[in-house]
Amino acid sequence: MLFPGPVLESLERAPSRPAIEHGTRVVTRGELLGLVARCAGGLRARGLRPGSCVLVHAGSTPEVYAAQLAAHALGCLVGMARPGWSPVQHAGARQAGFDLVLTDALAAELAAGPSGEAAEPGAEPDGLARLTFTSGSTGSPKAPVQTYRAYSLAYRPSAWPPPLKALMANFERCLVHASLASPVMMTYLGRTLVAGGVAIIPELPLAEAVAAHRATATMMAPPVLAGLLERGADLTSLRALVLGGAPAAPSLLERAADRLGPVIWQGYGQAEAGVIAMLTPEDVAAGRTGAVGRPLPAVQVSLRDGEGRQVPHGADGEVWVRSPHMMAGYWRAPELTGEVLRDGWLRTRDLGFLDRDGLLHLTGRTRDVIIVGAEVCYAGAIERVLAAHPDVEQAYVVGAPDAETGEAVHAFVVPAPGRTPDPGALAALVPAALSAASTPRSVTVIRRVPLNAAGKPDKSALRPTGPSATR
Ligand code: AMP
Repeated sequence: MLFPGPVLESLERAPSRPAIEHGTRVVTRGELLGLVARCAGGLRARGLRPGSCVLVHAGSTPEVYAAQLAAHALGCLVGMARPGWSPVQHAGARQAGFDLVLTDALAAELAAGPSGEAAEPGAEPDGLARLTFTSGSTGSPKAPVQTYRAYSLAYRPSAWPPPLKALMANFERCLVHASLASPVMMTYLGRTLVAGGVAIIPELPLAEAVAAHRATATMMAPPVLAGLLERGADLTSLRALVLGGAPAAPSLLERAADRLGPVIWQGYGQAEAGVIAMLTPEDVAAGRTGAVGRPLPAVQVSLRDGEGRQVPHGADGEVWVRSPHMMAGYWRAPELTGEVLRDGWLRTRDLGFLDRDGLLHLTGRTRDVIIVGAEVCYAGAIERVLAAHPDVEQAYVVGAPDAETGEAVHAFVVPAPGRTPDPGALAALVPAALSAASTPRSVTVIRRVPLNAAGKPDKSALRPTGPSATR
């Protein structure tokens, strides 16, 4: 059954039970179903049909979730704008050819509209279901897109591998504390409903929300957990805490397991590939914290060299994957798609190796990105913004470990002749053009860039080693 069929069916089964708690408001499963039917009627009246493209630019509310389910029920392609997008990113997305922009106001209007008939399922297995704007900062949206067949797998308990089944048994009360633009939040919300649990969209800050809502499960990036542990937040109600989106230091996983017990899971994946591997609480207890987990049964992993040849077992290579849930390609970007999809395999551009126990370890990334929080920032895009300033002749951007955000952006600029760049003013250009996360934590003026043996700029020699911020 295609999405949102499994979610709608689970709502029908127990209409009086709660589906979503939004702050103090409780929306029952029957009420959510009613919202979906009204939204579907309103969307149909606005001309949406299978294959129409909907951009969601709204907050995370039951109405917005219902409108998304309705758009999917009609067989539309749905993408959600990321919070914190710059005007440039919004303009890029809007020009990309969406038939409708779903705002909070429109979702409220649809949800209050006349009750429509039950939506005729409009999706086709090969139709496009969901696009995810990579957290990226390239200005123009780069969006992996999944077919209905691929997207629906996440919501079919019969397709869940044993570790996922075990994980979902803890999702009685799932805290959905970040935007639904995050595929992780969106997916776990739907899975929680399918598994019979309640999704909680809190109005409190995360540090208070877990205890206040007696959440039994939630998801977050490792730096967020580090902050919560440091502040002594009460996380004792959690029976499952899923970490992902960025590297988690073994020491953090171990500290978290010491404090919270055997509740720490780690998911490794990407927007293009979906989930690739999972590390379970048993793995954490057994000290396998250097790994990102075991590839899921449905995911084939192959470690390849730069020419796409398989490397010997245990050797480092680029992680290539093949799975039924990976993307069909980048939306309307065949050239970009061709760079990563080869013969049915997807190049993740992550580097790693498989150990003797079959656990996957990551050792780096082939692409030049910096992961700030869980947001992927492209060094090249930031360099282009800085280098466009008349005071700057060359710009180089590197990532460095950061206690607050995991990694942070650091920029180095060589002045244009006779000019004196202002580091603060340069840093301020970046959030306006790209995204807040891409803002350099430091901008350092250098006279020349170090060169490697081949005479090329050696960015690794620029990596800051201490707090040398010149901002
Ligand atoms: P995104 O598509 O924005 O989710 O970013 C995906 C990238 O984040 C992956 O290709 C990895 O480089 C990194 N990543 C995601 N999960 C993990 C993890 N558990 N450990 C290390 N890196 C991760």
